[in-house]
Formats: sequence, structure tokens, C-alpha cells
Amino acid sequence: MSRSQRFFHAAALQVDGHWLPNARVAVDNQGRVISVHANQPPHVGDIRCGWLIPAMANAHCHVFQRAMAGQAEFRLGEHDDFWSWRERMYALANGITPDELYDLACWAYADMLAHGYVHVCEFHYLHRSGPHNRDTTAMAEAVLAAAQATGIGLTLLPALYRRSGFCDDSLSPAQQRFGLSVREYLAMLDYLQGRLRGNQRLGVCFHSLRAVSLGDMQAVLSTVPEDWPVHVHIAEQVAEVRQCQQALGQRPVEWLLQHLPVDHRWSLIHATHMNTMETRALAASGAVAVLCPSTEANLGDGVFPFPEYQAAGGRYAVGSDSNVTLNPACECQWLEYGQRLQHQRRVVAGETTDIRPAKAIHAGDALWLTAMRGGWQASCGHAPAEGLVGQVAHWLELDDDKLLLKYASEAQRLDAFMFAAPDAIKRVWQAGRCVAEAGRPVAVETWRRHGLSAFSSLKKRQLI
Ligand SMILES: [Zn+2]
Repeated sequence: MSRSQRFFHAAALQVDGHWLPNARVAVDNQGRVISVHANQPPHVGDIRCGWLIPAMANAHCHVFQRAMAGQAEFRLGEHDDFWSWRERMYALANGITPDELYDLACWAYADMLAHGYVHVCEFHYLHRSGPHNRDTTAMAEAVLAAAQATGIGLTLLPALYRRSGFCDDSLSPAQQRFGLSVREYLAMLDYLQGRLRGNQRLGVCFHSLRAVSLGDMQAVLSTVPEDWPVHVHIAEQVAEVRQCQQALGQRPVEWLLQHLPVDHRWSLIHATHMNTMETRALAASGAVAVLCPSTEANLGDGVFPFPEYQAAGGRYAVGSDSNVTLNPACECQWLEYGQRLQHQRRVVAGETTDIRPAKAIHAGDALWLTAMRGGWQASCGHAPAEGLVGQVAHWLELDDDKLLLKYASEAQRLDAFMFAAPDAIKRVWQAGRCVAEAGRPVAVETWRRHGLSAFSSLKKRQLI
């Protein structure tokens, strides 16, 4: 045995949807899996684990919005919707400082780790340190530093944000902080590339079709490396779809697929409002539809055409977006429940064209495994390799002491976790390192102090 490798012994290990009993896994000092053997007894010195499933990558996050979670659930006028919520969010977005962002992100990222997200795609548009400040990197550096401190893997996606609407080339007073020219944007990417650490990478990001022009996107895409992931908010709101049709003559997904080479590198955030043609074309592109069901429900966005998209073989991922919840199992649960309510049926996930599938379809398996693969594709711009050897040992260890899990059959373990006990997490392993136990991140008091510092400062300045 090489001294640089460690062995894990799992009562059961899930690989590509199958449970391997009594799995002995060798992991190298980089956290990569070297070998897996099932039906093995544990050896002295092995790290003993229960049931291990692959951990998740969070495909969409605006970490600063965690400060608003639960703080915007009231109505001041006759009508409250995404646009009125956005006004409240802008107040926070315009006031938060780099130090507050760092503290808040430390607390939120640690909490994500505790719930099984070991990587996060941070969709970052708070560029300037203040609305008219020339410094465009302090906020991004605060995000990089918080990710490094907590250890969560990071795909930093600085967003290009140039205008307030399809027909308005200027930014509103509340959006000044987000604005960068293409030249400033590319210079910022260049600078940030030199600031990345081990499990951090950069991607390209366009805030939305309403915030950038085709020329802006082409200028950026022709300059950045060809293997970088590309993210864009696409069709979250009906009003946005209508405005796009008026300005560009097409619906957002339809327009994007026709004007840019959308492929596996791309992640379309909130592909909520699509017609049948768009749904099929997006599925065929190999891109990832990033769904954020708890935020989409919270903001009253609408419901994604899930059955049609699955039937067309579409890839999807989940994201915590506004961070009203940080639990990927709850995100998957919301995705499924929204569909059940809309279609008045059960087990929508795992939709197949087989009328009588060979074995029962379990929503827990279908949701977790598809969203897990989609999340890693969204974070690195390509689909993850199948199989375990060579992959990084990112695992969520289910708490098999919880009766609902203990007495579930093998086939029902993920169903029981997702629908009945989404907090049944014993430990989270990132690259073979334990980062959370019993639903709490390692060093929880440190992260709590950071959170307290951010909250008291934001509260004092009436930003939340
Ligand atoms: Zn978003």
C-alpha cells in the first residue's frame, strides 16, 4: 500500500445508480479514487462509512441573496411578484461591502457543504465595490476568499451586465454596480485567472439576453478559452419572454439556439418558459437546463416543462439561486412536487418513452443522479466521466440510523432520503476529506461568527 493513499470502507456505495455492498475504495492524496472493490471486509485502519452517494454541485447561486432568505415574505401593495422582489434585492445588492460579502459567503458556503453541495457555481454580478466605484475585483475576490476558507469548490462566473432592457442601452441607477464594458469584463477575467486556487475555476457568464447584446456575447466568446463553461439566465419570467419576442422577434431559448453555438459548455438558468420546439431543441443541444425550484416557487416564476424535456433526453441540474434553501435534496423534492401539482400525477422524474419499463422508476434515483451529473457538467463545461475510478471522492453519507432510511429497501433509499428525510446526512466528504458531520459543517462556530458579523452589519445599515 502506498503511504499516500487511504482506504474507505462503505457499507454500500452508489455508483452509476447501482449500490455496491461492502465497498472498499482507495483514494489518493489528491482525493481521487484509485480503485473500488465490492464485497470486501473492512481492514484495520480503513475509514468506516455507511451509505455513500455522489455529492452534488450547486449549479446556480447568488450568495449575497442568502441574507434575504425569509426576510422578504411580506406584501406591501396589492401585488407582489419577481419584479417587486427585485427592488428589495437591489437595495441589498447596492449596499453590501466586500467584507460583508466575505462573511456572508463563508457562512452560506459552509452551510451548503453541510447539505451535500461540495461545489458551487457563483453567478456573480456585484462587480463594483460601490455603485460608481472603479474597483471591479474586490467583490469577486471576497467570493474567492470565502470559497477558499470554507473549502467548497468554486466555478466563479462573473456576469456581463451592460443594459437594463432589450431596448434600453443604459443601466438604471440601481444597476450601476453591475455594469462593465466588454473591455473591463475581459480585463477582470484576466486578473481573476491569476487569483484562482486549487479547486476553483472561471467561466463566462451573461446576465440575461435583456442585459447584453449579441455583439457583446460574440466578443467575449471569441476571446475566452474554448473549454470554459458558459452560463446565462434565459427565460425566468413571462414578461421577459414577451419583451424578447418584441425586441428580437423570437422567444429567448429559440433566439439563443439560433444565434450562438449552444452545446455541452452551456448552462441555461431558469429555462422555465419554453414551447415544445424550444424544449426539444434545448434537449438536443447537450446544454444543461439549470432549475432552481425553491427559488422559482418562492418568486412565483412558473413551472418547467419537465416531462417533455426528459422525454427528449434533456440534461438538467439544480441550483440554490436566491438561497432560500441550501439543501439539494429539497431542491429535487420541489422540482418533483411542482410537477405533481401541475400534472395531477405522481413520479414525474425519470419519464421514459417505455410504456412498461423493465423495472420500477424511482423519483429519488432519477432526480439525484441526473441533477448530480448535470451539476458537474454545469460547473466544468463538460459531462463528468461515468464510473468511479479517476473521479474525485465527493460523497454524501446518508444517515442510516434514521428509521425511514434504515427500513427502506435498497431501491428506496434515495426516495426515503429525498421525500421523507432530506436532513438524514451523517457526513459529507469532499475529495476524501470530511467537511461536515450531522448536518453541521466542520468548524461550525467559525462560520457562524462570520454569519453573525455579516447580519449585524447589514441589519445596522438597514439593508435587510
Ligand atoms: Zn439567478
